[in-house]
Amino acid sequence: MCGIVGYIGSKNAIEVVVKGLQRLEYRGYDSAGVAGISNGKIQIVKKNGRVDILKQTVEDIKFTSHVGIGHTRWATHGEPSDINAHPHISSKGKVAIVHNGIIENYLTLKKELQKKGKVFLSETDSEVIAHLLEEVLEANGGDMIASLQIVQRTLVGAFAVVILSVEQPDMIYAIKKGTPLVLGIGQGENFLASDGTPLVQYTKSVIYIGDGEILRMSAKDFQIYNSDIQEISHKTSTLEMELSMIEKDGFEHFMLKEIFEQPKTILDSMRGRITADFSEVKLGGINKYAPQLYNANRYLFLACGTSFHAGMVARYVFEQWCRVACEVDVASEFRYRKPVIHSGDAIFAISQSGETADTIVAIEEAKEHGANIFGICNVVGSTISRVSHEGAYTHAGVEIGVASTKAFTAQLTVLYLFGLKIAQSKGTLTAEQIKQYNKELLAIPNQVAEILKMSAEILEISKTLKDAHSMLFLGRGVQFPIALEGALKMKEITYIHAEGYAAGEMKHGPIALIDENVPTVIIAVKDSNYLKVISNIKEIKARKGKVIAIITKGDKDIPGIADHCIEIPETSDALYPLLTTIPLQLLSYHTANVRGCDIDKPRNLAKSVTVE
Ligand code: GLU
Repeated sequence: MCGIVGYIGSKNAIEVVVKGLQRLEYRGYDSAGVAGISNGKIQIVKKNGRVDILKQTVEDIKFTSHVGIGHTRWATHGEPSDINAHPHISSKGKVAIVHNGIIENYLTLKKELQKKGKVFLSETDSEVIAHLLEEVLEANGGDMIASLQIVQRTLVGAFAVVILSVEQPDMIYAIKKGTPLVLGIGQGENFLASDGTPLVQYTKSVIYIGDGEILRMSAKDFQIYNSDIQEISHKTSTLEMELSMIEKDGFEHFMLKEIFEQPKTILDSMRGRITADFSEVKLGGINKYAPQLYNANRYLFLACGTSFHAGMVARYVFEQWCRVACEVDVASEFRYRKPVIHSGDAIFAISQSGETADTIVAIEEAKEHGANIFGICNVVGSTISRVSHEGAYTHAGVEIGVASTKAFTAQLTVLYLFGLKIAQSKGTLTAEQIKQYNKELLAIPNQVAEILKMSAEILEISKTLKDAHSMLFLGRGVQFPIALEGALKMKEITYIHAEGYAAGEMKHGPIALIDENVPTVIIAVKDSNYLKVISNIKEIKARKGKVIAIITKGDKDIPGIADHCIEIPETSDALYPLLTTIPLQLLSYHTANVRGCDIDKPRNLAKSVTVE
């Protein structure tokens, strides 16, 4: 989880690494640290809290080095503190390491190392790596590559580890398994990072380090070895990222910028994928596995968090359009519940980062059972995009806000395209219906732009939520997942307790919560459930609950009943989620802002969850 940066070259490595850590801040973290070599010794500065604090400290002490490694920590073992922050150094000060992930067998290793006299300073699982490596190095005559092979084989769990050695001050080493690590190739300098954001300022030429590999890099060159210590060569990839994409561009927060980017990002996710006469969907990423996709016995959507809600929407839509049984599951549950998987299953693995650990493990298991995996990821070159059989990128651009917005609507868009493609091949929708849906999809970006114009009105509604302790979000049918997503967004950035419910379930429990202090947001657009949702609103009002309703423009009935209404343009039932989710994003954003919350860095959250 969180972030690693490494640099070796002619610049001040400490400055480059700290800047890189700032670029990685969006991934979420609780503490940060950096190590360099000065006067022949490893020097470490690490601080609980913001990267800013670290930055100030390294500037105050004028910390410089030609080589540096840094880390933003999202604590798994041991509370966030200066001591537990990374880097960690070995007992004799020979090596320092930063680690992302979890070492599952750390307790056994720690006990063995303690018996041998190693003194542990922190409560982290990561510190064992430093002591273990020092010990293995001593036993192997200082041969770093051979030692890293042993360490790599000894560690159980998920890790990206970057290493600084006092004996080889002109090198940085790294090993990885299950946690992303990208090498950035510069001229006379090289970089390492957890993702492309710290690199793009310097180079777009990158290599994604593979699991089980060992990297050695100096300022001039680098070598990559496989787990049998044979040197291997990797294709260089180009980062599809611009510096402007990772800056705020005049917006107060990344989240707001990303909400406002949606007319463009939704269009980008359809670009080149709908023919000019609207008659067909074209998905460039589906070739060899097209028959397995179209003829699947069942569609399974696996994801976590917001992406799971996209999968839930897809289930409603695919069942309706393709008439095939669909299931949706959170990846972390799926993998532990002995799921029944058949070789005819098509699995959609949905993940913004493409690095979600639970989703990766779930698809690996499904692959073993012969299922065909279709990845829907935003980050190009990410693990899920590589381990899937085929798939489609969402093309939403870098998403920095921890609370996902534009990546979600891009996922929905791509899933709609898949649904239409499959329905077309199966003949479960007529040519006319396909055309109609394609036209409506292409109209969505302008409709989203129209909704965004209501941001100021939505801010006024948000002010009424400022002191709420608890909220309900209700929706029926395909709007149920949007209600869940609305509640999730509200929780994530405002810390107001919010529950999403299927409106039809209201009477089976949540109605007990309703009083004048528990506002309800209800999605009440003019779809086939409209009249039933009106009854739900009446039931809430009868119990003095405040209602904020998302309604279709021109609705004359609900404004007379609900306390606040947010009007959105009309589309067909299945596509409404692309519109209804926008006011809910703005509602959480503005509520978080009026409550003074740290919107881009919500407490305890990390952007991409690369540990289980
Ligand atoms: N498990 C390690 C720790 O708690 C690393 C966590 C991370 O990936 O930031 O320190």
